[in-house]
Amino acid sequence: MIPLFKHFPVLAEKLPYLALGDFPTPVRKLGRLGSSIGAGALYLKHDGLSGKVYGGNKVRKLEFLLGKALRDGARELLTFGYAGSNHALATAIYAESLGLRTISMLLPQPNARYLRQNLLMSLRYDAGLHQHNGVNALVLASLVQLLSHRLRRGRWPRVIMPGGSSPWGTVGYVNAAYEVAEQVRGGELPEPQRIYVALGSMGTAVGLMLGLRAMGLSTSVVAVRIVDEATANPSRMVRLFRRTNGLLRSLDPSFPQVRLGVDEVEIRHGFFGERYGQFTEEGMEAVRRAYAEEGLKLEGTYTGKTLAALIDDAGRGTLAKGTTLFWNTYNARDLSEAAAGIDYRRLPVAFHRYFEQNPQLLDRG
Ligand SMILES: *Cc1c(COP(=O)(O)O)cnc(C)c1O
Repeated sequence: MIPLFKHFPVLAEKLPYLALGDFPTPVRKLGRLGSSIGAGALYLKHDGLSGKVYGGNKVRKLEFLLGKALRDGARELLTFGYAGSNHALATAIYAESLGLRTISMLLPQPNARYLRQNLLMSLRYDAGLHQHNGVNALVLASLVQLLSHRLRRGRWPRVIMPGGSSPWGTVGYVNAAYEVAEQVRGGELPEPQRIYVALGSMGTAVGLMLGLRAMGLSTSVVAVRIVDEATANPSRMVRLFRRTNGLLRSLDPSFPQVRLGVDEVEIRHGFFGERYGQFTEEGMEAVRRAYAEEGLKLEGTYTGKTLAALIDDAGRGTLAKGTTLFWNTYNARDLSEAAAGIDYRRLPVAFHRYFEQNPQLLDRG
């Protein structure tokens, strides 16, 4: 049984949940990296291994989102992201395993090699892929898609929020906080003073914060912003926190009511760079170090920037005392073989340019 349900048996009855992934994900000490950057005790929570076929942070959210979609009788899903979206791919893969089809509504992003692979894999898992250049066009096209699928199939596709960060998806990371607390009790790592995690659609960071506070733990979450500030900011984090807390309490009133003030949210803004998906020098240096010193594969959009923030703090000496946990949110399963041999020309033309043009400069190494 998942840790959240052990603590709150009523939630086990009320929350539709599907075991899609491999949990608990492993924890390990990053001894070499920790000492070379000057962090006291540095540990990794490896959510890259959260699934056999495809890992990363979206699996925990999908266990609840797809559980609910199936219970509600959905046959098709419609979700959003940027062209290389790990979320859209994870949704397509796990939905396909349940017989659901995914429609992905995507916005352009700077070109990168992982993006190509994600698009090819989405094709392999039979996702309908659409790209539009602006948010308004994307929203309009999404309405058209919803309506035309409703007319053809007789039911509305289930809309999954960007990054899976609705309150239902965020519950996946409330559970993750209970999972890591169990690992602390089991002696796998000391209780961390701080957790570093990427901040995109916010469900990961907010779910962790809610779970930690519900347990009465003082571990802080350092959220490293990798999307623009209009998407990820303290007031939106607090709102998602409250709504998720409200959802859990509406299903099980014994779940504690916890508070989060906007001034208590710790966001690192300095590692975003120019825009979403645009790699940075510090981020790519962090990616190189993680691989060279720990054999850990990160990427330039999320986890490299997050580790760069951690390395920067370590350099200032603020991580010398206590335990720091780096939460890896990026898939660690190798897709290169599965994606090889898929012809990109089977993708809608809007996506061909990602294959016909070079990846961004910092992704050519
Ligand atoms: C989606 C994603 C994130 C961001 O998580 P949010 O819950 O959207 O904030 C971080 N890392 C990776 C690799 C992701 O794909």
